Amino acid sequence: MPNKLISIVVSAYNEQDNVGELYKQLQKNMANVTGADYELVFVDDGSTDNTLANCKKLQKKDKRVKIVQLKRNFGHEIAMTAGMDYAKGDAVIFMDADLQHPPVYVPQMIKLWQEGNEIVLTKRVDNKETSKLYKWCAKTFYYVLNALSDTAVMESAPDFRLIDRKYVDFLKGFNEQDRLFRGLLSWIMPHDKVAIIDFTAPERFSGMSKYNFIKSLKLAVNSILQFSVLPLRLATVIGLFGAIFALLMGIYVFVEHFFLHNPTPGYATIMVTVVFLGAVQLICLGIIGEYIGKIHMEVKKRPLYMADYIENKDKRDA
Ligand code: UDP
Ligand code: MG
Repeated sequence: MPNKLISIVVSAYNEQDNVGELYKQLQKNMANVTGADYELVFVDDGSTDNTLANCKKLQKKDKRVKIVQLKRNFGHEIAMTAGMDYAKGDAVIFMDADLQHPPVYVPQMIKLWQEGNEIVLTKRVDNKETSKLYKWCAKTFYYVLNALSDTAVMESAPDFRLIDRKYVDFLKGFNEQDRLFRGLLSWIMPHDKVAIIDFTAPERFSGMSKYNFIKSLKLAVNSILQFSVLPLRLATVIGLFGAIFALLMGIYVFVEHFFLHNPTPGYATIMVTVVFLGAVQLICLGIIGEYIGKIHMEVKKRPLYMADYIENKDKRDA
């Protein structure tokens, strides 16, 4: 029986000093794998440094290296999508370029797949680099996301995973612009054939994280909007509370004025009520606006990215 093919998809944005080391470590670890060949798909997400040039150098000496060159920076989720679209393997492994997803776990992932697990996830048990505050934020985010949406998303599950071709093809059917792989995955997740590997994430090999607080917050808000319409319902609830509050306030003023003959000074109460109701309305409009904005972006059905696929075909194979 011919060997199966594994595609290793690596998204890289300004990772010039990491791609070479990652290649070296993957090559070393893949030497222990039996029954499978592999291709290494580097997705250059519009890097402005020498990431692309360094990938091309690797490709020159190893034609298992394929390059998907995105024409500008499209973001991590789209980069993974592009890599998945071009991957030819019977299983696709996703990993970061900065060696925070240690290649040493890759053979184990493949083994679990060969044993019949169609999806192999990883769980970060300890990340030396992250602060207590970051961990707390991440925990709160997953709690809110899971409380709001129908699809449960596993906590501390990084984008380091293996997906069988069957599910890769299925994932390709999702063509939303704004996407969160973790969420899509939990939507399609087979409950019985998932394996999980625990791992400790080391520090970045080189360079800086591409996620800052604002980017992470944007990702968090987006994923809630993607997977839940509950905030819309929340708008109605806030409105309802506002109305009840205004009604009670009205009754209070009425009673004070007509029965207790102790009129509340007018403008203060009016101001409070108007400002309060104004704020409630703005919140509701804002929430609705967020969703309309998403609809606006999605209905255009623009292509997700623009890319060149670069491979090093031997004349003999052509
Ligand atoms: N990345 C990407 N496009 C981006 C931002 C990041 O392809 O716009 C890649 C990046 O090169 C890395 C992975 O996504 O391989 C994870 O990013 P990073 O290490 O910066 O995130 P962190 O590990 O700090 O959460
Ligand atoms: Mg990283």
